[in-house]
Amino acid sequence: MKAAVLREYKSPLVIVDKPIPEPAWGEVLVKVMASGLCVSDLHIQDGIISTVRLPFTPGHEMAGVIAKTGEGVANVKVGDHVTASVDLICHKCRYCRDGRTNLCTELVRIGFETDGSHEEYCVIPEENAFKVADHIPFEQVAGLPDAVGCMYHALKTQAKVNAGQVVLILGTGGLGMNAIQLVKVLGAKAYATSRQKDKLETSLQMGADAVINTKEQTLRSEVARLTGGAMCDVVIDNIGIKTSVEEALNLVCPGGKVIVTGYNDPTFEANFQNIMKLEKEIIGTRAVTRTELAEVVNLAEEKKIVPYVYKTIPFEDINEGLGMLRNNSAKGRVVLMMGEV
Ligand SMILES: [Zn+2]
Ligand SMILES: [Zn+2]
Repeated sequence: MKAAVLREYKSPLVIVDKPIPEPAWGEVLVKVMASGLCVSDLHIQDGIISTVRLPFTPGHEMAGVIAKTGEGVANVKVGDHVTASVDLICHKCRYCRDGRTNLCTELVRIGFETDGSHEEYCVIPEENAFKVADHIPFEQVAGLPDAVGCMYHALKTQAKVNAGQVVLILGTGGLGMNAIQLVKVLGAKAYATSRQKDKLETSLQMGADAVINTKEQTLRSEVARLTGGAMCDVVIDNIGIKTSVEEALNLVCPGGKVIVTGYNDPTFEANFQNIMKLEKEIIGTRAVTRTELAEVVNLAEEKKIVPYVYKTIPFEDINEGLGMLRNNSAKGRVVLMMGEV
């Protein structure tokens, strides 16, 4: 089978031949049909994710078909369409017991600490395979565990978004377009920002109640105008630069929440009193729990959300795809397509 391998940091991935792996007891072999490219893949390529060991195949947004099952597998069968939860967990630590599987102390992630889905076949534990209805295109399925799942965890669990609230999404790319749809599912108002006109247009198509062009408009006064001075209940910071959290704190109301999802600069600055006196919260968010991923699959099957795909490209063009993320010409998820069923 073909696999995209990172041999050296800061260099292109190389497509190599590898043997197709065999599923052991309790494992399944997935024929990968689509694999999403994520900014984390760039962080991996740049060598800033310290747990990665080379040579390595990234890819944590898997969509495929069960090609073979190991012994003891009972809940999926050959031919099932699946996506994969990326977390290999211990089931024993306090976080696993609490259902917070994304924080497992023994966590190993497919596509980070172990080879991922930018290859034609992957072996995963049966428990990581989430069945998905056949009617959802593979490129959309690929978005469920990360591009949609992360935002679902951020909005529902971390921000606890309620109906009637106002949520501002700072930076609408691969994650933001899904966040807009999820905010609407949760019954809240969605505002989205971008410096690019076409992204703002897509945001409106995704259901945004208002969009702000941060190249032409002053963000804070525009949010004040839209909310009648009340400001937002929640800001999702997909930008993650030194100044974005501080700015987000100025965009939320007293008691409001800033959810940190982007991580591009190593640190941010924030005003103590703005947080303390007004009980504003800065909240982290990591990936998605398995319970939440099951909910996300349901939302997609019921067509309450349609995972946003900007472009599909052939697997062989992986480096061009990563380049589109790097130079910001991708307006949403770029998904590798591995072939026909
Ligand atoms: Zn990702
Ligand atoms: Zn655990």
